[in-house]
Amino acid sequence: MQYDVIIVGAGPGGIFAAYELMQLNSELKVAVFEAGHALNKRKCPIDGEKIKSCINCKTCSIMSGFGGAGAFSDGKYNITNDFGGTLYEYIGKKQALDLMNYVDKINLKFGGEGTKLYTTAGTRFKSICIQHDLHLLDASVRHLGTDINFIVLENLYAYLKDKVEFFFDTPVSSIATEENGYAILCNDKTYHCKDCIVSVGRSGSKWMESVCKELNISTESTRVDIGVRVELPATVFAHLTDELYESKIAYRTEKYGDKVRTFCMNPKGSVVNENTNGIITVNGHSYEDPEKQTENTNFALLVAKHFSEPFKDSNGYGESIAKLSNMLGGGVIVQRFGDLIRGRRSTESRIEEAFITPTLNATPGDLSLVLPKRILDGIIEMIYALDKVAPGTANEDTLLYGVEVKFYNMEVEVDKNLESKHKGLYIIGDGSGITHSLSHASASGVHVARNIAEKN
Ligand SMILES: Cc1cc2nc3c(=O)[nH]c(=O)nc-3n(C[C@H](O)[C@H](O)[C@H](O)COP(=O)(O)OP(=O)(O)OC[C@H]3O[C@@H](n4cnc5c(N)ncnc54)[C@H](O)[C@@H]3O)c2cc1C
Repeated sequence: MQYDVIIVGAGPGGIFAAYELMQLNSELKVAVFEAGHALNKRKCPIDGEKIKSCINCKTCSIMSGFGGAGAFSDGKYNITNDFGGTLYEYIGKKQALDLMNYVDKINLKFGGEGTKLYTTAGTRFKSICIQHDLHLLDASVRHLGTDINFIVLENLYAYLKDKVEFFFDTPVSSIATEENGYAILCNDKTYHCKDCIVSVGRSGSKWMESVCKELNISTESTRVDIGVRVELPATVFAHLTDELYESKIAYRTEKYGDKVRTFCMNPKGSVVNENTNGIITVNGHSYEDPEKQTENTNFALLVAKHFSEPFKDSNGYGESIAKLSNMLGGGVIVQRFGDLIRGRRSTESRIEEAFITPTLNATPGDLSLVLPKRILDGIIEMIYALDKVAPGTANEDTLLYGVEVKFYNMEVEVDKNLESKHKGLYIIGDGSGITHSLSHASASGVHVARNIAEKN
């Protein structure tokens, strides 16, 4: 039960850490403990017929298991320091980009060859946006698509499974310091290691908090992004998505000076439920395979909320708002933009009469009963601003699903090696609060693996 390195969590952070360790020193004895299932066993029971909504499985197959939260995602690897995390603050902008490009190469090698890399460099949309006080953020985006993303994960697992020991359905309950490393407790067994990489993502945020308390590691939690997922005919954004695939557009509202941004754009995609700690929120994805594509495009509109002293539980605030939508709608609520502006709820018949077919079976309702006025005002203002660069965004039938919450894990105190104050205990990926994306989380895994390999 003695390992050189134990990795907690088999999301992109953990997988890329394991991959890089094996590249640099295949003699190292490495184990990966994952609360969720192996990739081939991950299946959400919601089938739209017998099971229509979340039944709160013991471990959520959407968020947990080999591949982590990203396994069924759209597989958009954004190569940028402009969003997706603040890894560059720890390791420098150039190194962060180098690592993201390295991850991209591995993804291509393991099945992503032939997928498209989109870039904002030289695009005319930058100036079109700025004329309307909208700001297009710089990025290159590798779009693997949900299907190819899954194949890449299958191939990575096939490559790693004989080199690294995987323990699935094995949540780690605690980490304790000991003389020459760490004692990892799970399922009433204790495993020991010299170095421990913790990469537990968003689903492990509460657990991460308790570990930090026990080990006296400082944390900070002040931000949450709250908003809706917008769904409209793909043609409205086609001029942007055909060239850029994903456009991250930021806007500062006139009314309150709040920052609103588009997030996670899915051309010809589907809106999906997401379960975070038993609370149902909304998300979206799309496929490379034309057969699986829809006639709609969806993206999130999020308002960033930063709290100051004495309030410290920004995620709790986001959860409370999401709970309100769950209370009123039994899950996610959908409303036509026209109904929202008229101050009336959407009903089954109003949704049916619309010129757009929703891709998610959500409960028609009234988002103004859920979202705080300030946030709703910001979203409405942004929809009218976007209408100037993508006419049709502010149409009556544009669908708004709520709520979408972007929880930020509390930021954990680590140094430039992403090592905590306890030597050999690394905290990476979304669980560290430093990354919020596939590319940044994966890059953080490569970074710590190189640091550990150098020591051995
Ligand atoms: C539906 C959806 C779509 C997304 N689409 C995109 C996208 O297109 N592009 C993008 O950049 N990002 C996207 N994201 C975000 C992206 O998936 C995450 O940023 C990324 O997966 C973070 O990687 P990670 O390794 O830090 O954590 P995770 O992927 O969350 O993995 C952490 C793993 O740790 C496990 N774990 C937690 N606690 C424990 C414990 N105590 N013991 C053992 N294991 C534990 C979890 O089960 C999980 O499998 C999406 C997320 C979702 C949910």
